[in-house]
Amino acid sequence: MKRSKRQGKARVVARAVLPTRFGPFSIAGIKGRGPDEEAVAIQHGRLKPGTAPLVRIHSQCLTGDVFMSERCDCRAQLELSLRKIAKARSGIVLYLPQEGRGIGLINKVKAYELQDEGLDTVEANRQLGFAADSRDYDFAAAALKALGVRRVRLLSNNPDKINQLERGGVRVVERIPCRPRTSHHSRAYLRTKKQKLGHILAGL
Ligand SMILES: [Zn+2]
Repeated sequence: MKRSKRQGKARVVARAVLPTRFGPFSIAGIKGRGPDEEAVAIQHGRLKPGTAPLVRIHSQCLTGDVFMSERCDCRAQLELSLRKIAKARSGIVLYLPQEGRGIGLINKVKAYELQDEGLDTVEANRQLGFAADSRDYDFAAAALKALGVRRVRLLSNNPDKINQLERGGVRVVERIPCRPRTSHHSRAYLRTKKQKLGHILAGL
């Protein structure tokens, strides 16, 4: 991987207050250089220079986040993160519009169709011609740096996310497991995450 190509740039283009069910937050709109590079950051508390805020990097999941689907644990992880961050001194949910592990909404529904026929999430993505996980966290690192964040305590079970952030110049000083209660519907999905994508999910 070419390092110079991975060093993306991003900037904050808008900020506003965002009262939520979990407490007071603010929202920032962040844009990168590429046409698809945009995200919003939901922030709680003030970021103090040199400290590491609690951070969750969340990839958009329309079916989970909005329709509360139990095929995956996205909504449960998002809620747990917002609750923890609202209680922390400072924290951020960086919300990335990369639906379906980067394959897009319609392809995700196609993948669900294949899963209903017995394939797991990784096999379904591969049958559709995609990598098991097409997400790229290089822009996420650039977005965090645009917010003035260079060190984080990361809410995540995904070692690849940690590696990519560190490569992008954001130090992960601590990993905090993100394990909400989940329904039995998402058990096979989580087992695939653990067995095929290397997520750290003890007890599954
Ligand atoms: Zn999901």
